[in-house]
Amino acid sequence: MIIAIDGPAGAGKSTVSRMLADRLGCVRLDTGALYRVVGLAATRAGVGPDDPDLGRFVAGLAIDVEPDHIRLDGQDVDRAIRTPEASAAASRYAAVPAVRDALLDLQRRLGRARDTVIDGRDIGTVVFPDADVKIFLTAAPEQRARRRLAELVERGIDADFAAVLADIEQRDKQDSERAVAPLRRADDAVEVDTSRLDLPGSVDRCEAVVRAALGGGSS
Ligand code: C5P
Repeated sequence: MIIAIDGPAGAGKSTVSRMLADRLGCVRLDTGALYRVVGLAATRAGVGPDDPDLGRFVAGLAIDVEPDHIRLDGQDVDRAIRTPEASAAASRYAAVPAVRDALLDLQRRLGRARDTVIDGRDIGTVVFPDADVKIFLTAAPEQRARRRLAELVERGIDADFAAVLADIEQRDKQDSERAVAPLRRADDAVEVDTSRLDLPGSVDRCEAVVRAALGGGSS
């Protein structure tokens, strides 16, 4: 079973997906983390977004995905991929077709291995267009910036509201205007706006969508 959750930065996808997966007994796959690792690795190696060898570079990366942990060449990079610089790099490299191609098989393989809640930008449109359930999770930009700031502060990462909001708006623009796999709601996705919902409320709403779609009745 594949449950696809797409939406813009800071809509609550990570936490909602993790909690929803727990409730449903699925694993969660965070595809944003894959793009973040690519951004980090390519930046460290000095391989730019225009480098003709970028696709080969990405295909050769040793990325190890476990629930709640991601490793690059055996090294834990959970923290390094969450900085504002890493967010911006992820978005830049995610616009490159060779990067998206190189990550497509990996996402499909990981998603098919188990019942999975998989979150990203193009899961319902490109990666798993035949997903069992598709949710488009969204919220107003200011609300998303507030949440992202709280998340960064909790992780001990320094940031301020204006910078986080600017980053979110910049990434929204980059993600929805790129030529390949732009961020958009799949025609058959159910939109869930979390602007006025708290976290448990957002998870409840998504769980109801899943149960209704799978014919198990909604709460
Ligand atoms: O979800 P997260 O904020 O961690 O994603 C980081 C960046 O990776 C996004 O801004 C987007 O550019 C890219 N991304 C993507 N497709 C996905 C997941 C993430 O393009 N499926």
